[in-house]
Amino acid sequence: MKVVLQNLTKIFPSRNKKSNEEVVAVNDFSFEIPDGKLIGLLGPSGCGKSTTLYMISGLQKPTSGKIFFGDDDVTELSTENRGVGLVFQNYALYPHMTVKQNILFPLQNLKGADKPSKEEMLERAHYAAKLVQIDELMDRKPSELSGGQQQRVAIARALVKMPRVLLLDEPLSNLDARLRLQTREEIRRIQKETGITTVFVTHDQEEAMSISDMIVVMKLGIVQQIGKPQDVYDSPVNLFVAKFLGTPPINVFNGHIKDNKVYIGEDMVLEVKDVPNQEVLIGIRPEGFVLQENGPLQCRLNNVEVMGRDVSIVSTNDASANPVIRSIINADNKVNSDAEFVRYAIKPHKMFIFNKENEERIYFEVK
Ligand code: ATP
Repeated sequence: MKVVLQNLTKIFPSRNKKSNEEVVAVNDFSFEIPDGKLIGLLGPSGCGKSTTLYMISGLQKPTSGKIFFGDDDVTELSTENRGVGLVFQNYALYPHMTVKQNILFPLQNLKGADKPSKEEMLERAHYAAKLVQIDELMDRKPSELSGGQQQRVAIARALVKMPRVLLLDEPLSNLDARLRLQTREEIRRIQKETGITTVFVTHDQEEAMSISDMIVVMKLGIVQQIGKPQDVYDSPVNLFVAKFLGTPPINVFNGHIKDNKVYIGEDMVLEVKDVPNQEVLIGIRPEGFVLQENGPLQCRLNNVEVMGRDVSIVSTNDASANPVIRSIINADNKVNSDAEFVRYAIKPHKMFIFNKENEERIYFEVK
């Protein structure tokens, strides 16, 4: 089932009588989510991810804009009639019910012709439980389950209604690091097996990038970029997106362009074609540095951290916008950790130039 968001806007009225300032939580969001795909909605706290999800679910009404499931305009439909499965950060299972009763609950609540027979309900509950691999735990109460198992029950409960669209709001936040990893892989598997179009909200870029077919990066209610995770990482449209994706984060420098030469401080790091002279911000991914004895960029060496396969070099440079520069170099490179300076060449495809005023990307060709 494809989901179409058409110029979705959500404005919350001011709660502060004095300031009268309304909050534009989501601003003119348009996107067609292809059938059967998993979309990661990504952005910092308050950027409007949850509000977007709630509008898709019907829990919140858009101020303007439309939502379609397939060709059906669902904008005015209630949550119950949309056919969505919802999973939240706090799983909110009923503590006095067993796993089986929790999963059956949404089916028992259905009315009239929609209500399946008792046999069918049990069959569907069993199928959902098996899908999330908790079919052995059906008679336990939620308090007798681990956090990861509880979250799987919540997913099974969302799946049992055979939703047209599955909506997940930070479903892994309450899990520890190992369980997060495991559960996110589970979610991906379940999503692929069922083929249900899924929207997954998270502020964790790594989580979104690892399981999504496409990611949507938002800032202050405005969509910044939509694309395949790798494409967005490799070609961010602005500094915000470049900084939001990647661990360690991108290194940012103050620089300038003069006569088609890109400078970081006094160091000329690259020659480009047809870029006007100007002050710029330069982003270089940690993997974009190449150790080179006569490399053009000189940095003061702070620390060398050996991490097995890779070496992380921490250095400083007066033109750096961050306190330190982190570069990731293959461990086959020998780094003299006693040296005062380290010199780098820059991989051009790992370097992005941004307009200093509006922080939009300035695209360039290497000379
Ligand atoms: P988080 O990751 O912290 O959950 P989010 O990206 O999901 O953040 P939203 O919850 O969608 O962000 O909120 C977007 C903006 O709308 C925020 O500025 C928030 O304060 C505001 N907002 C959300 N719900 C309401 C509401 N019911 N009334 C007024 N303002 C709201």
